[in-house]
Amino acid sequence: MLVRGNAEGIWIEMLTDLENRCFKAEYVGENRIGYTQPDRSIYKDKEKKYLPVSLVEIGRGCHHNCAFCSIQAYYRGTYIHRDIPEIIAEIKSCKHKMFFFVDDSIFSDWKFSQELFLEVKKLDITWTTQVTLDIARDEEMIRLMAESGCVMILIGFESIDSANLRQMNKGGR
Ligand code: SF4
Repeated sequence: MLVRGNAEGIWIEMLTDLENRCFKAEYVGENRIGYTQPDRSIYKDKEKKYLPVSLVEIGRGCHHNCAFCSIQAYYRGTYIHRDIPEIIAEIKSCKHKMFFFVDDSIFSDWKFSQELFLEVKKLDITWTTQVTLDIARDEEMIRLMAESGCVMILIGFESIDSANLRQMNKGGR
């Protein structure tokens, strides 16, 4: 059995088929993020010592095409994202004020991320995420991130040798 694509839209069908022992050879999920608000009930178990950080997904994919990366193997340089009102509603529903946006490249859609950060700026939160170094070329975006509560970013440099970076197809826009 082969499962391709984003799982949300096919998960229930697939589990039901498995239960009924009538599964198909292949399930193909749509290229979209198939939930609005995730079920956070598992975090209510007080016995589990989770970090006091809320994890929220903004989008999936990346505008780069690094040769070694599973993200590019799947998304091929494309990026999909959730709607901003859904994201803001989820942030407001979380109990912690510190957030990790669990994205691979949060500003792959420049205009969308600007609109998002303007909305996040209205909330009293701090956040961190992963970005690529080409954000250093956009001072306005960096300022907007800081104003909206960004206190730390994670960057994978891979190499400081430009020949190595070219070999990996890790370039800027
Ligand atoms: S920049 Fe990062 S996430 Fe994007 S393709 Fe390269 S390694 Fe993958």
